[in-house]
Parts: sequence; C-alpha cells; structure tokens
Amino acid sequence: MFSDELENLSWEETTERIHAKTDTDVRRALSKEHCDVEDFMALVSPAATPYLETMARLSKKYTEARFGKTISMFVPLYITNSCTNSCVYCGFHISNPMPRTILTEEEIVNEYKAIKKLAPFENLLLVTGENPAKAGVPYIARALDLAKPYFSNLKIEVMPLKAEEYAELKKHGMNGVICFQETYHKANYKIYHPRGMKSKFEWRVNGFDRMGQAGV
Ligand code: SF4
Repeated sequence: MFSDELENLSWEETTERIHAKTDTDVRRALSKEHCDVEDFMALVSPAATPYLETMARLSKKYTEARFGKTISMFVPLYITNSCTNSCVYCGFHISNPMPRTILTEEEIVNEYKAIKKLAPFENLLLVTGENPAKAGVPYIARALDLAKPYFSNLKIEVMPLKAEEYAELKKHGMNGVICFQETYHKANYKIYHPRGMKSKFEWRVNGFDRMGQAGV
C-alpha cells in the first residue's frame, strides 16, 4: 500500500538530501532525457532556483510533444455542500453554521441543462463533501446516471471510497477520480484534518491504491 511506502521514507532525511543538492546536480538533471529520483530532488531543490526559466521551457517542450497544443477543460459541479469533516481550510467544515443543500434529482438535471446552455462542455466533475449517510455512493451513482445524456466524460471528486464502490461507480459511467492529498506529512495532516473520516491519513492516502484495484 501507498502508506507502507511512505512509512519507509524519512521526511527529515529526504528534506536534508534535497537541500544538499548543488548547481552541478541541477545541471546534470537538466541535461538528461530521463531523470531519476536523485535528479528530481535536484530540480526541486533551492539550487534549482536560477533555472526556473530553463525548466519552464523544457516543461513546455515535453508537454507539447506528448499532448500537442491542447487545453482540457472540465466543469466542476457541487451536488452537495453537506460534510461531516472538519478540514481547517474549508468553509464547508461541519462546525460552520451555513445552509446545507443536497440537490434533488430534478435540481441536478437543472444544473446539467444550465451548464449545457453556457457552452458545449463534455467533461463534468461531480463534487461532494463527505456525508455517506445522506449523499453516499447510491446518490453519486444516480447523479452519474442522470449526467450521461448530457456529458460524454464523467469524473468524481468525492470522499475516498472502497475499491468495490469505485468499481460500482464505473458501471454508472464514472471515468476518473480526482482526490487531493493535501499533504503527505502525516503529523501536519492531522493538524489540518482534526476530526471526521478525513482525519484518517492511511484511509485517504491508500484511496489511490483502491482506485487502482478498481481499475480506475
Ligand atoms: S471534506 Fe472536503 S468539503 Fe468537507 S470540510 Fe474537508 S475539504 Fe471541505
């Protein structure tokens, strides 16, 4: 699991190694076509600061080589702002006394229609807070079903799920998952996510494994 890999890494030692990188290390990394982990550490080190413009040019070159001159756009749509978590940086945290909404099927479809009136968007991202009791997997599955007539590519950004739940949502047309891991620093993660399911570091970070197990 991803969390086991993280356990094998020392945050402090890795930070020290990054800060020890030199100008020579950065130049070597920039001259290579295939970078390894040591090269990556050089490129994110303070020694790489004078090379930001060089890196930006290389990044542009590789991006265009792989993707061409394309911009991919998606429309995020919150179908509920109801949430049982307490993330300190988010206005939707459970202690905030604000009105909460879980859109009905009719309201969801109205949103889809309103989006299509704006522009011919095809990529929809369904977003929720974390309230599995009231807006869980069956609710998300239904929102996906309702979206199919309007959009050709459906993604979700919801609470981390079990592998079988990701697999279930795939059956309803879900093509991808966005999940932010706000920090990989376990102690700091606990400060930003003090309560609720999202406070469970391993559950969140291993969500990426479960997505993979489900073939997402
Ligand atoms: S889980 Fe998401 S919606 Fe809920 S408080 Fe945290 S960041 Fe906000």
